[in-house]
Amino acid sequence: MKKVLLGLLGVLLAVGAQAKLNIVVTTPDLAAIAKEVGGDKVEITTLARPTEDPHFVDAKPSFVVKLNRADALVEGGAELEIGWLPPLLAGARNDKIQSGQPGRILCNEGVPMLEVPSQLTRAEGDIHPLGNPHFVIDPVNAKTVAAHLADAFAKIDAGNAETYRANAQKFTVALDAKLAEWTAKLAPFKGAKLVSYHKSWPYFAERFGLDMDIFLEPKPGIPPSPAHLATVMAKMKEQNARVVIVDPYLNRKTAETVARSTGAKVVAVTQFPGGVKGTEGGYIALMDYLVNSLAGALGGAPASGTAR
Ligand SMILES: [Zn+2]
Repeated sequence: MKKVLLGLLGVLLAVGAQAKLNIVVTTPDLAAIAKEVGGDKVEITTLARPTEDPHFVDAKPSFVVKLNRADALVEGGAELEIGWLPPLLAGARNDKIQSGQPGRILCNEGVPMLEVPSQLTRAEGDIHPLGNPHFVIDPVNAKTVAAHLADAFAKIDAGNAETYRANAQKFTVALDAKLAEWTAKLAPFKGAKLVSYHKSWPYFAERFGLDMDIFLEPKPGIPPSPAHLATVMAKMKEQNARVVIVDPYLNRKTAETVARSTGAKVVAVTQFPGGVKGTEGGYIALMDYLVNSLAGALGGAPASGTAR
């Protein structure tokens, strides 16, 4: 009898464990929000590492297994993952996460996209043909994503719908409070010029009134040529751009060379919790780091040897 009871207990535990939704998420920023919304009702697996370029993720064979077992796949959409996700999905043979299924969750739904071209083109290798896919870095968009994830999780797991909605609401309230703080911190730098390597920061710039229209890449995904960099440096001097931001997976050396010859500073940034030291705590910790390090760089004394 005892044995039977133990056996029954084992079955119940197994059922309990299976009751957690198994969610695979493409990038760590979306994973952080999915964790906020899913809480203890979901198991999150993130594919991209926080130091990896989300356009060019190293697609390991183990990803196919993870996708095969997933109840849902959360992705950014707008072709952010088009360079690496489709073959993995084909290999995973999981009907639950095929296009159009409730388990296929696209986070750009409901997000006002920036830089949508009037004509679809991948001319000269542009990797943002459907508009800029780096939208999660605007906290207002993060709220939209949280609400969307709550609805999507509720569709797959109706029993926990209330929990998902309550979690998303809690995250939204926390973000609203922080957004006021971040906006106040960056307010003194309204209109300040920031130079970035890849065009992944327009949503952040627009939200906080920063001016980012100088890029080390001539087009998203195209490595900088010496001629392009010369133009960049001339523009930086002319427009008094004093800060160059660079993500962990991009060429920091190029950024440093440009900064050195223009008297600018390089600031290590990331859009992914864990991408830079001090951002591991989640979405809010990441934003805290960005706001504080940019306010520090923009407010501090100009770098030595400035050519202004
Ligand atoms: Zn991009």
